[in-house]
Amino acid sequence: MIRIVAFIVAIVVVAAVATWVAEPPGRVEIAWGDYMIETSPGVLAAAVAAAAAAVLVITAVVRFVWIGPRRIALARRRRRKRLGYRALTQGLVAAAAGDPRRARRFARRADLLLEEPPLTLLLSAQAAQLEGDDQAARGYFEAMLEQPATAFLGLRGLLVQAERTGDTATALELAERAFALRPETPWVLTALLELQTRAGRWSDALVTVKQALRHGAVSEDAGRRRQAGLLFERARALREKGEVREALRVAEEARATDGSFLPAALLGAGLAKEAGRGGAAARTVTEAWRQCPHPALGRLFVSLHADDSATDRLKRVEKLASGNGDHVESHMLVARQALEARQWGTARRHLERAVAEYPSAAVYRLLARLEEGESGDGDAVRRLLRQASEAPPDPAWLCTRCASASPAWSIVCDHCGAFDSIEWRAPARVEAPALPPEGAAAVTEDEAEPSPVPAAARSATG
Ligand SMILES: [Zn+2]
Repeated sequence: MIRIVAFIVAIVVVAAVATWVAEPPGRVEIAWGDYMIETSPGVLAAAVAAAAAAVLVITAVVRFVWIGPRRIALARRRRRKRLGYRALTQGLVAAAAGDPRRARRFARRADLLLEEPPLTLLLSAQAAQLEGDDQAARGYFEAMLEQPATAFLGLRGLLVQAERTGDTATALELAERAFALRPETPWVLTALLELQTRAGRWSDALVTVKQALRHGAVSEDAGRRRQAGLLFERARALREKGEVREALRVAEEARATDGSFLPAALLGAGLAKEAGRGGAAARTVTEAWRQCPHPALGRLFVSLHADDSATDRLKRVEKLASGNGDHVESHMLVARQALEARQWGTARRHLERAVAEYPSAAVYRLLARLEEGESGDGDAVRRLLRQASEAPPDPAWLCTRCASASPAWSIVCDHCGAFDSIEWRAPARVEAPALPPEGAAAVTEDEAEPSPVPAAARSATG
């Protein structure tokens, strides 16, 4: 409305000005060289107005011809980009939803529209992985390595592939490259730690676990436990090379790192004995017994006093057991020595306590030995042995992931390659007629329990 009024006002003003210019009589003369123009002021004003209008029109045309195509191209590029990002988003959603065909289609579309390979490589790799095309996925991940922006992601993709195919050497090399790029990333630290551990590179893994602790990639407790486990493995490797004193030093470091870590105590005590330091070995066993009693610790302690009389040994063992008097292993340890010393009353008292705590096969076998020694009643012995065969299995070193039994603790499960998965515990009850778990089947008498000290060390520790 305002525009129309303004237009009408403008027309009225222009008409008034034109009338005012054209009406009064008069002439205008313009002389330029040999040329002479004579006209009325009205015509001159009209010519000037026409010239001005022509300049405006020409300027507009030039502007359109000059800038127009660029503007159109820009708008088109913006549209392509918008569509490209939309395709990328849709592709990522399809990949997350596990739809490889849609993911692949959107990846191709995004690649076409965006013309930015780094952005679409990851989506293409994910789509290829979903389709099970590892070869193609590897190609995309390798292409990602060439771009600084995507190199880290490419390394991760290749690392996951290498781990899945069990190619530990390649995985370790990739983890080291990822660590060089971003040394404080938690997944890099944990992957590197596990791979170095699997490769038996204990010293490197110890450096990595310290780094992981510093950056909070592992908790304080888990970090300490891993350090102790790695030190244990290093000590074991040194022992295998015959470097007993250095092995002992490292085992003591493992014990100092995590006092509740039984394998380090067992190894430390065994090494102290090998180094001719019986007193230190006995002290280690006594300290460890308070926190984590274990049959192998008991056997090692008994072997330290092999020259004593059976009665003296029983007294020593009773003192050791008093450090953790209510534990089933304490009762078992004293009962065994009481049987050796033919002190049937003591043996029975402790075995009854042990049966109440955990009525394992080993407890019934000791009860059978007691019956045999004390009364010689064959029927009673056979009944107890039958009870032993039906009793809950004895504890063993078992992997929490694959449930395999191992002769000793180790930081990596020999059967499934799991990391820090081996624990001393009772196997799940296997109902007949299924075969009993490996290890439990081999136990025919209580001295044959699996030990956390390796076989070579067992013979040395008696
Ligand atoms: Zn396992």
